Amino acid sequence: MLLQINKKVNIHGILSNIKTLYQLFIKKSLKVVVFIVIFKLLLSLIPLIQLEITKRLVNKIEIIFSDNSQELEGVLLLLTFQLLLFFLNTSITSLNKYNLFTLQLKTKYLIEKKYIEKSLTLPLIFFEQPKNYNLLQRASQGQGERLIAIIESSLTVFQNIITLFGYFLILSSLSWYLSLGIVLLIIPSVIVDNKIGHWQYSQNISQTTKDRQASYLSGLFQDKKSIKEIIIFMVGPYLKSKWSFIILNLMKEKTQLERKTILVQILIGTINNICILLALLLLIWFGLKGQLTIGYYVALSQALISSQGLIKNMSQKVSRIYSDSLFLSHLLEFLRYPEEIKEIKDSLPFPKLQTGISVKNLYFTYSDQSQLVLKNINFEIQKGQKVAIVGRNGSGKTTLIKCLLGLYQPTHGEIKFDNVDIKEIDKKSLRNNFSSLFQDFVCYQLTVNENIGFGDIHNNNHTDIVEASKISGANEFIEELPKKYNTELGRIFKQGQDLSYGQWQKLAISRASLKKAQIIILDEPTASLDPKSEIEIFNKFIEIAEDKTTIFISHRLSSCINADVILVLNNGELIEQGSHQELLNLNGEYAELYKLQSNLYEKGFATAYL
Ligand code: ADP
Repeated sequence: MLLQINKKVNIHGILSNIKTLYQLFIKKSLKVVVFIVIFKLLLSLIPLIQLEITKRLVNKIEIIFSDNSQELEGVLLLLTFQLLLFFLNTSITSLNKYNLFTLQLKTKYLIEKKYIEKSLTLPLIFFEQPKNYNLLQRASQGQGERLIAIIESSLTVFQNIITLFGYFLILSSLSWYLSLGIVLLIIPSVIVDNKIGHWQYSQNISQTTKDRQASYLSGLFQDKKSIKEIIIFMVGPYLKSKWSFIILNLMKEKTQLERKTILVQILIGTINNICILLALLLLIWFGLKGQLTIGYYVALSQALISSQGLIKNMSQKVSRIYSDSLFLSHLLEFLRYPEEIKEIKDSLPFPKLQTGISVKNLYFTYSDQSQLVLKNINFEIQKGQKVAIVGRNGSGKTTLIKCLLGLYQPTHGEIKFDNVDIKEIDKKSLRNNFSSLFQDFVCYQLTVNENIGFGDIHNNNHTDIVEASKISGANEFIEELPKKYNTELGRIFKQGQDLSYGQWQKLAISRASLKKAQIIILDEPTASLDPKSEIEIFNKFIEIAEDKTTIFISHRLSSCINADVILVLNNGELIEQGSHQELLNLNGEYAELYKLQSNLYEKGFATAYL
């Protein structure tokens, strides 16, 4: 379905957004919505019937009070009616609450489901751009509640309009200008409440970044990784004061707005009260002229007073619809974000590699505004070669492999696998032919089986999982776990078993080795392991890799000695390429880095990084 999002802050824009959201999320619960509409309709009529009963009741009571007990039966009947209406009102309101509750649960589920589905279709670069963090936050927070609030508010407005229309008819039977006055009273209230809604929305938008900063800082105190450093470096008080500075500023801004809002509401409320008071005086004047019975007077004054409440409620609901639909436009904006092109017409399967990979004139930038991170990269990798990418931090190694994996689209240039351009290859087929392991791998708070099995989700063979765990050596500690491969990992869940970082890393290595892919990509997979384990794992990978093409990034140049080709990156440029010996002979950047690390090793720095 084509998502239309209207960013215009006008009634048309708001209505078209609500329509889209309705079609996406509410249409599936049509039955519940129809019930809510019927209930709201009934609720709108009850006050009008009550008014009529009150009028008759007061007139009859007046007669009883003047000693005509024959009317007592009629009074009791009316009182019973009134009681029934009270009961009906309470029951319908409760049923409606229940309906709205179930609708909210379902809508929340549907929105979150859509959110997850959409996230899976977005290009990785979307998550790399800071401007999208705000969009992600706005699109994900409380949208289910907001959508239901819009539905509820719209229906309450509909309910109030019907009741007000009834009051209007009742009042106009006495005086048309009195009823017109009531209608006119609605306008300033709606304008003012809408303005308030807009102020609140603008403030929320302007505070999103600061809000995120504050949550980030408070989150540091809940994360076991960060709390350790906070204690050691004693930066707790500093971070706390930084957090409280932001929060206090946000609170100040919010309080100022609340004060302004309350003042404006008091002002408009006072004007409304004065108008209602004048209208009540007018009623007395009509009474004095003999145009009203007591019952009629009571009913009309009740209509006037209730109208005031309804107008207030209605304008607040209109303002809620307005601001909530502005917030919901972010959800639509997120859902409308261009998806990664999954299938191009006539896409090709990933070839069974005969020659290898070739990269020509490759350029990459993270966004239009930022600098080039990769500049004119050219190299070729033969099928089955073991290739190391080295370079100082920030030289572009990770970015390069993400381009090779098809996670980023090159800004310029081409990547070919056996002469087939990456752009033409079917995405699924591309993913199936790569196995990768990143330095920031995921520690799934799930079972050991799942942690390894995710390497090849369609493979249910437990023996393969055990074999994969042997490659990294993870099998040794897995055997010690209470439920072995079925042990739940992580601290999030009560029964979860936490692991050391190195153990998590071994699981990640097993995950990567489970996949039967043609190309293996390793981005510093052994950074947390000691040099001995690192060498062992590299050897094992090379052993299982056999004829597979392996590309790895390592900061320990000792791991590169056996690589067929070493690519040396510097500031986004490929400055050297060749075997270990060739690069040493070249006596350039690689030789310098290698000598530097060798010296450090000799001096006893066991884990010498670039
Ligand atoms: P390496 O892996 O060699 O350490 P990276 O490929 O991670 O280097 O980063 C290369 C450059 O790209 C660095 O200057 C880094 O600041 C920049 N960079 C990395 N990620 C992003 C991003 N999401 N947005 C903008 N620039 C980025």
